[in-house]
Amino acid sequence: MKPVIALVGRPNVGKSTLFNRLTKSRDAIVSDYAGLTRDRHYGQGRQGKREYIVIDTGGFEPDASQGIFREMAKQTRQAVTEADVVVFVVDARDGLSAQDHEIANYLRRLSKPCLLVANKAEGMQAGAQLSEFYELGLGEVYPVSAAHGQGVRDLVDLALAPLQLPDEEDLPELAEGEVAPIKLALAGRPNAGKSTLINTWLGEERLVAFDLPGTTRDAISVPFERNGQKFELIDTAGLRRKGKVFQAIEKFSVVKTLQAIESANVVLLLIDATEGVTDQDAHIAGYILESGRAVVLAVNKWDALDEYQRELVQRSIETRLGFLKFANLHFISAIKRQGLAPLWASIAQAHKAATCKMSTPVLTRVLLESLQFQTPKKVGAYRPKMRYAHQGGMNPPIIVIHGNSLNLVTDAYKRFLEGRFRKEFNLVGTPLRVEFKTAD
Ligand code: GDP
Ligand code: GDP
Repeated sequence: MKPVIALVGRPNVGKSTLFNRLTKSRDAIVSDYAGLTRDRHYGQGRQGKREYIVIDTGGFEPDASQGIFREMAKQTRQAVTEADVVVFVVDARDGLSAQDHEIANYLRRLSKPCLLVANKAEGMQAGAQLSEFYELGLGEVYPVSAAHGQGVRDLVDLALAPLQLPDEEDLPELAEGEVAPIKLALAGRPNAGKSTLINTWLGEERLVAFDLPGTTRDAISVPFERNGQKFELIDTAGLRRKGKVFQAIEKFSVVKTLQAIESANVVLLLIDATEGVTDQDAHIAGYILESGRAVVLAVNKWDALDEYQRELVQRSIETRLGFLKFANLHFISAIKRQGLAPLWASIAQAHKAATCKMSTPVLTRVLLESLQFQTPKKVGAYRPKMRYAHQGGMNPPIIVIHGNSLNLVTDAYKRFLEGRFRKEFNLVGTPLRVEFKTAD
């Protein structure tokens, strides 16, 4: 599980600016997907090899005139509770305020790692100028400048330092010839029908579930096999197991959903047909794309709609989830057991595409053929020169193109290349990343 960093602090101290810094590298990856809705509250970041999730609790604050406990909306409290480390941002220029004290009181009671960060500290020293913040009783004060990027790397190192990562060697090894299970996450808003679908699955003869862990906590992970293929249904947010059946629990956790997506190979995103595509669906979808996980879309409760309503839902999918058009789309009824079998084919196909191996010679051939078909535009005196391509990763597949002046390649051309690669390798159901490594 990726560690979760929550940013808290009163309005205007620079939380969103810091959030943008912390999630910047990922932003660039998805900037050219038209229609992608990003949830400004949740993002992912990476520093070196360490990846993390960031929550900006700023946007949740409803009424600043209320006391902190009312002010920190339910979602914020939940986010803070679920975070591994809290970064409390204060304003180095404004100094301490009553609100800062209230937030500090709240955080002290949480007894979880908390870093006190004085933002807007460009040109300031950690010493005298920041001494008043020690009053908050949260220990050391770390000066940063989110706007200028100063101290941000150190901040991430500090925040992640106490969080032990499992060593790669600690990961279970597979025996020779053993195939790793497909890790499947079932994502979707509360009420989309996730527990109904799981229960329908588990009631199927063809699906064999192995020792359901007898957990009463929120965490669920069910290993199962279907037609000889091993799966692991990973910790699905918002569900609880009661005896042999799954039930929705009231507390829906965005953080858990995000972590489930992160740990999955394939995400089945369930959309409630009776609600259409909501903002929250679009945000979850955006997050799946950002994380690079393979995805299958299923619109549930199709039985409950008439022809006209179905038409509307189909249109809302096109307009709101257009950035996932590489994914297979199914219309199902979990209750009436309609349309469920084809889901498995799509899940398997998405997994295959996400983990496919693309050899350098074939990638390079496709690249050169594409160049012949359509040459990239000259910019000024220069024309981007692409020489060869190799695979830089899996799940999602990453194709790295090497050459010169590649910073001049337009987004449109990049999409054209993406389309050619997708077609050649039959990449249905997985995001694809095309990156450029330019020699000059
Ligand atoms: P939030 O309400 O806590 O999310 O704060 P914002 O990120 O929206 O920032 C509030 C204001 O502070 C904006 O005008 C930012 O440009 C400014 N700001 C943010 N970070 C810095 C910084 O490091 N130095 C300075 N001088 N201004 C900053
Ligand atoms: P979860 O919160 O995502 O786990 O959703 P549930 O599985 O608890 O389902 C929420 C509600 O939707 C329940 O009342 C279900 O009976 C209903 N529901 C689930 N699947 C379907 C379906 O395919 N068709 C219809 N009409 N209702 C469904």
